[in-house]
Amino acid sequence: MSARIIDGKRISEEIREEIKQEVERLLARDVRPGLAVVLVGEDAASQVYVRNKAKACDDLGFYSEVHRLPASTTQDELLALIDRLNGQASIHGILVQLPLPKHIQEKAVIDAIAVDKDVDGFHPVSVGNLMIGDDALLPCTPSGVIELLKRTGNDPAGKHAVVIGRSNIVGKPVSMLLLRENATVTMTHSRTPNLPEVARQADILVVAVGVAQLVKRDWVKPGAVVVDVGMNRLDNGKLCGDVDYDDVAPVAGWITPVPGGVGPMTITMLMQNTLKSAKRTHGIA
Ligand code: NAD
Repeated sequence: MSARIIDGKRISEEIREEIKQEVERLLARDVRPGLAVVLVGEDAASQVYVRNKAKACDDLGFYSEVHRLPASTTQDELLALIDRLNGQASIHGILVQLPLPKHIQEKAVIDAIAVDKDVDGFHPVSVGNLMIGDDALLPCTPSGVIELLKRTGNDPAGKHAVVIGRSNIVGKPVSMLLLRENATVTMTHSRTPNLPEVARQADILVVAVGVAQLVKRDWVKPGAVVVDVGMNRLDNGKLCGDVDYDDVAPVAGWITPVPGGVGPMTITMLMQNTLKSAKRTHGIA
């Protein structure tokens, strides 16, 4: 038996189609969702991400602004821009591309974004709302993981989910979301003893570590759903996940490929958040 593939590209396209239709509905009421993306410095990967976000906005009929600032931008200058965007009616979502240059405190910048425009879901109030189960703009990669599960009929309710990795960006929020979806959640990390044995208990295994091909076949219960968030560049230039795909696919029930699994979902969920924020602002159900 070989695992069924969780096709993130196809699911992402399906959601984008739904978003497009929602945008049409909003445009008929003179509302266009608007996203501002802020990039400080010349980081090559960040430039690609920012370009992809602007393109997604174009494709879906969103209004977008890209603010490209030099690496020498001061923290005060960046905070002044965020303050302006917080008050700008055409903008419903603000995304500051991370990482920022070392002289700028990431926390100060994230804290400055208005909570109702926090489409990355990294503001402490958004994180708190996620934790207590209030309505919030959810962090994009973790909510993408949940969409992948639900749209392949792998409802987390009643399942044992094991999450490997406890970062603020992926591991912790995805654990909270799985809990919210009524899974029983085990959070694991680099200090977890007997990790393969713990992982093997999972009905749903979510891996967000950043170590290429860490998870092998003997970490996976036969038939389990394996979601690989990892994105690692091998020496030969190829992209690979935190799961050894060829080794694990024969035993898993479902598996996300890398690329083409979780990756395509992140920008799509960002668009979803911006749409949600626009609807909220204008009181549209
Ligand atoms: P991080 O470095 O912030 O966190 C990694 C976590 O893994 C830590 O909590 C650490 O305790 C744990 N860890 C490290 N080594 C371990 C080991 N040997 N065994 C068990 N746990 C271990 O990373 P992150 O930001 O959470 O990202 C994780 C991976 O996901 C990276 O490959 C990153 O590129 C990828 N990622 C992908 C997307 C996307 O697809 N859109 C988004 C974010 C992150």
